[in-house]
Amino acid sequence: MQNSINNILEKEFFTHSDIVKLLSTNENKCEILFRKATEIKSKYVDNKVYFRGLIEFSNKCIKNCYYCGIRAGNKTLKRYVLSDDEVLECAKYAFNNGFASIVIQSGEQQNKDFEQKISYLLENIMKISNGKLSVTLSLGEQFENTYKIWKEKGATRYLLRIETSNRELYSKLHPANKLHNYDNRLNCLKLLRKLDYQVGTGVMIGLPFQTIDHLADDLEFFRDMDIDMVGMGPYIEHKDTPLNQYRDQILSKKERFLLSLKMIAILRIMMKDINIAATTAMQTLDKQGREKALKAGANVVMPNITPIQYRTDYLLYENKPCLNKENNECQKCLEAGILIANDTIAYNEPGDSLHFQKRKNKIN
Ligand code: SAM
Ligand code: SF4
Repeated sequence: MQNSINNILEKEFFTHSDIVKLLSTNENKCEILFRKATEIKSKYVDNKVYFRGLIEFSNKCIKNCYYCGIRAGNKTLKRYVLSDDEVLECAKYAFNNGFASIVIQSGEQQNKDFEQKISYLLENIMKISNGKLSVTLSLGEQFENTYKIWKEKGATRYLLRIETSNRELYSKLHPANKLHNYDNRLNCLKLLRKLDYQVGTGVMIGLPFQTIDHLADDLEFFRDMDIDMVGMGPYIEHKDTPLNQYRDQILSKKERFLLSLKMIAILRIMMKDINIAATTAMQTLDKQGREKALKAGANVVMPNITPIQYRTDYLLYENKPCLNKENNECQKCLEAGILIANDTIAYNEPGDSLHFQKRKNKIN
């Protein structure tokens, strides 16, 4: 097995069956895979980690994804929307602390008021930072014109996870209606690319009904779509969701975590110059999850800078960490972890995807 892993890792291009074999690597052989990923990471994207301050803008959502704790059907939540001032205070915190970049994430809303509110916020974030704070939006599926307006107002990156690249599995995770349509989600990714965003996507790992073949397909999907950034992590149960009924049938937390690390490492080797996030879900399953993800090839972390009083209402899944930690506490804890991973924090650097920059240079 060790030999066959080494042979695969020497290849320029991984086939589907290569990826399946790598994903099936035994725990005691994973070090070879992680070492290769670290090597590629230092060679192609340096050992720098970029901070993105995560602002959980609102838990109001029109959708009903079967896995998500803030789905419209969950009536146990208090719904909130941050005020303009609250968002701008978060942005200032990020800017003043050298984060250079924020992510505005939210439950999905598709209406003019929402579009205008985000436009207003973008305009003001650009004003307070002299255009220096990079903004990633993660606001779900929108019309082309809305994406276009937000780009004009200063957003440069968009994160829209495909969740799974397998249509059949997608249909098991979402209600069968127009709001939850695989083709529409795929089309949104294509629109974002056309509009010149740095495009990010991702999947959940260890979902009910998901196989190793599906995950290999997901990695091939990122490569085929020539994606600039990926945020992926383990699926985690939430008791007030329909998928919770399968909680006894899924992989253990330890297995889901290890599988997620392998996904990150293989992706780093396949797509050398993209940005890969060490997600909060990794930290949820393992206290040092983000640090381990950095060692497996990730180069972005997203500390939560949402005002503390809202965090318990943005519970996508159970046991989400850092719900009552002050921002500076989180920062100190991350700084320590990053040192352990032998990386350095790229304060005040926007950390645009190198992959994006290279593909732009090719075009121009
Ligand atoms: N509403 C937007 C969307 O769906 O693209 C952005 C916010 S949504 C909460 C962000 C991500 O949370 C989703 O893309 C999904 O992958 C992740 N998520 C939701 N429920 C999850 C769960 N139970 N376990 C792990 N990740 C989850
Ligand atoms: Fe809404 Fe996003 Fe959760 Fe789906 S994953 S229910 S769109 S917040």
